[in-house]
Amino acid sequence: MSTKGGGEQTLTVALRIRPLNEDEILQGASPIAYKVENNMVVLLDPTEDHDDILRANRSREKQFVFDCTFDGSANQEDVYEATTKELIPNVITGYNATVFAYGATGAGKTHTMVGKDDSPGIMVRALNDLFLEMEKTSEDMAYKVTMSYLEIYNEMIRDLLNPAAGILDLRENSKGDVTVAGLSEVSARSTDEVMQMLLKGNRERTQEPTAANQASSRSHAVLQVTVRQRHRVKNTLQEVRTGKLFLIDLAGSERAANTHNRGKRMVEGAHINRSLLALGNCINALSEKNGPRYINYRDSKLTRLLKDALGGNCKTVMIAHISPASLNFEESRNTLVYADRAKHIKTKVRRNVTDVAYHIAQYTNIITELREEILRL
Ligand code: ADP
Ligand code: MG
Repeated sequence: MSTKGGGEQTLTVALRIRPLNEDEILQGASPIAYKVENNMVVLLDPTEDHDDILRANRSREKQFVFDCTFDGSANQEDVYEATTKELIPNVITGYNATVFAYGATGAGKTHTMVGKDDSPGIMVRALNDLFLEMEKTSEDMAYKVTMSYLEIYNEMIRDLLNPAAGILDLRENSKGDVTVAGLSEVSARSTDEVMQMLLKGNRERTQEPTAANQASSRSHAVLQVTVRQRHRVKNTLQEVRTGKLFLIDLAGSERAANTHNRGKRMVEGAHINRSLLALGNCINALSEKNGPRYINYRDSKLTRLLKDALGGNCKTVMIAHISPASLNFEESRNTLVYADRAKHIKTKVRRNVTDVAYHIAQYTNIITELREEILRL
C-alpha cells in the first residue's frame, strides 16, 4: 500500500493466525492453518485424507495470499508496525484511515485491537504514536486529538465512554458525512489514560446472554480518533485539516456466515447481526470484477459509519483473524474467503482540507453584496 499522498488505493488485507490455545489442545485439535513464505497462508481441510496431502498431493490445501500475514510468532508490535503505523502521519496531515479486525469469536480480534495492559493492541499504540508525532511538529501547527468509543449492538449505538447517554442516532450532513449525535468526544493525553479508557469502555460492552464465555461477540466496538490541525501563518489560521482514524473491533463473523448458509429468510430473525451482514454485502458488491454496482451502505449502522472507509475517502486496512485449530476449519475458511474478496476493494483517498482563506474571501464577498443591497434600500 502506498500511503504517500492520495489517489486510488486498494484495501490492505492482513491475516493473523493466533497460537493454538489450551482448550483446543485439550480437545485434540491439530493446527491446520500455516503461514508460509511470501505472505501466503495454507489451510488444510481436516475432513480430507491427510495422508494424501503428506504424499505430496497438495491439491487439497487451499492457499491464500495477503498483504501481510502473521502467525503465532508475531507479537503485538509486529502487527501494529506492519498494518497501522504508517497510517499515523497521514491522519495528522488530514487523511482518513480505518483499521478493522474481522474474524470469528475467539479468533483474536480484541487481542489485536485492544490487547492487555502488558501487551497493548493497535488502539493504544496508534494513539501513542499520534501523541509522539505531534510533539515532533513545529510550533506553527496547532493540533487537537480527541477520541470517541462506541458500540453497535443489535443496531443500537451506545457511547462506551458515557453509557448513561442511552441509545444514540446517526446523522448525515449535506456533504454526506455521517456522525453520531450526542457521542462524547474526550481528549486523552497519555497512553496509560487511553488504555484505561478502553478497558473501562470494554467493560461496558454488551455481554452475550446465551454464551457466558463469549462476551461481546455480537457487538462492534468502534474507536474514533479525530485529529484537527490548524496552521498559523502571520497570526491567522490558514487551513484546517481534519484526519479521522477509525479502529474497529467487529462482532464475531461466525453469525454472518451461519446466516448466509441458512438463507435469506433468516435475515430478519432475532439473532442476525445486520451490521455484519451488510458489511459482507458491501464488500461483495465493492469487490466485483467490473467495478461496483449500487452499494447499499444504508442497510446498517456499521456500513453507514464505514461508508468512507469502504468505498470513499479513506485508507483502509482489514485484519482478518483465524484460529489455527482443525475444530475451527469452517470458520477459518469463511474468514479467509471473505478476506480474499476484500483485497479487490478500491478507495479514493484525498486530504480533508478546509481552506479558511478561501471561505473568508467568499464570506467577505457575501457581506459586501449584502451591504450594497442594504444601501440600495
Ligand atoms: P475475539 O475478540 O476475536 O473474540 P479474543 O481477542 O478475545 O478473540 O481472543 C480470545 C483469547 O485468545 C483471548 O484470551 C486472547 O487473549 C487470546 N489470544 C488471541 N490472540 C492471541 C495471540 N495472537 N496470542 C496470544 N493469545 C491470543
Ligand atoms: Mg472480542
